[in-house]
Amino acid sequence: AAPFDIHAVRRDFPILAERVNGKQLVWFDNAATTQKPQSVIDRLSYFYAHENSNIHRAAHELAARATDAYEGARNTVARFLGAASPEEIIFVRGATEAINLVANTFGKKFIGAGDEIIVSQLEHHANIVPWQQLAAEKGAVIRVIPVDDSGQILLDEYRKLLNSKTRLVSVTQVSNALGTITPVQEIIALAHSAGARVLVDGAQAVSHLRVNVQALDADFYVFSGHKVFGPTGIGVVYGKKALLEQLPPWQGGGNMIADVTFERTQYQPAPARFEAGTGNIADAVGLGAAIDYVERIGLEKIALYEHALLEYATHGLKSIPGVRLIGTAHAKASVASFVLAGYKTEEVGHALNQEGIAVRSGHHCAQPILRRFGVEATVRPSFAFYNTCDEIDRLIAVVKRLSATRRS
Ligand code: PMP
Repeated sequence: AAPFDIHAVRRDFPILAERVNGKQLVWFDNAATTQKPQSVIDRLSYFYAHENSNIHRAAHELAARATDAYEGARNTVARFLGAASPEEIIFVRGATEAINLVANTFGKKFIGAGDEIIVSQLEHHANIVPWQQLAAEKGAVIRVIPVDDSGQILLDEYRKLLNSKTRLVSVTQVSNALGTITPVQEIIALAHSAGARVLVDGAQAVSHLRVNVQALDADFYVFSGHKVFGPTGIGVVYGKKALLEQLPPWQGGGNMIADVTFERTQYQPAPARFEAGTGNIADAVGLGAAIDYVERIGLEKIALYEHALLEYATHGLKSIPGVRLIGTAHAKASVASFVLAGYKTEEVGHALNQEGIAVRSGHHCAQPILRRFGVEATVRPSFAFYNTCDEIDRLIAVVKRLSATRRS
């Protein structure tokens, strides 16, 4: 049983009442994006109906309302992450843009020829490609922490990679493809003792576990709003204030400047320095509402309940002949990736869709880690707190039926 009123929670998400192929929708594609509670949908409408204005610049009532709402959301995010101050929170488009921002500011300034950047084998392409681009430009080198057969990071191998040339370690807290929860606390402490900074990709973490950037001592922490029940097009970079103050801007334009002449420009301090142009004001406000919603349930209760869902799904899938689970680490959140012998992953995805069950089948933008396990794609049910064991039973029934009529 859920440690909260699961029926009330499900009623908060109007899309869960949708019917797909004549069946009630089962949303198991939460790692790709999450559904939105009515409170977030209402908050967006309220903003456009009562508060809409550009922020900061104009001195009128609606500009004040919009600015209050936007800065209120920044405060909410700061509290949510355990940041020391809202000035450490930069709004961007999503985790992808967040990592690109750090690569183009911290990376451009502090990473040079022969310097080393460490990522893990688990990373999403968003936490690989920007570093490759930077490394190519600067002549820096990328080192990769391998994982064991369960999909967990090998800390001893990581220790061997760290050296005086390491400038940055950029790792995910939760793998989107396997669900592995990585030991970020240890990773950060080890990096710091080697004099390196750390970026934590929290895109898959913030909706499943309590995060405190100060307790972690993360230098940068990034996530996307749409994966934590908020809108698309809004995301966050947390950066330690003392570090942000040392960074050059990335994009130039309005809002990020203190003074402009044709000869030179003076920049605003963080976070404005990194928010050039008109930002995604309404969706930042919507993200604030999403965080308020999650906090009302409580991350601790969510983690507990989702752990039970994952155990239930793992147990059920494991017992089906032909199913191979990919990612069996002890510490996991919310993802049950698998392949089924005799079937392409898209065939499994299609059969599930016929029954109204939405899962992702494919490479999940994390090709290196799937290849580590000798596969190009998996079927990936991923859970959120509004899912139930009854829904998992529906998934298991489809996979069982396919398994029983296997060709190979
Ligand atoms: N990192 C991880 C671990 C992710 O799961 C994702 C989204 N799948 C991203 C980064 C990129 O997020 P976005 O596409 O929202 O920018």
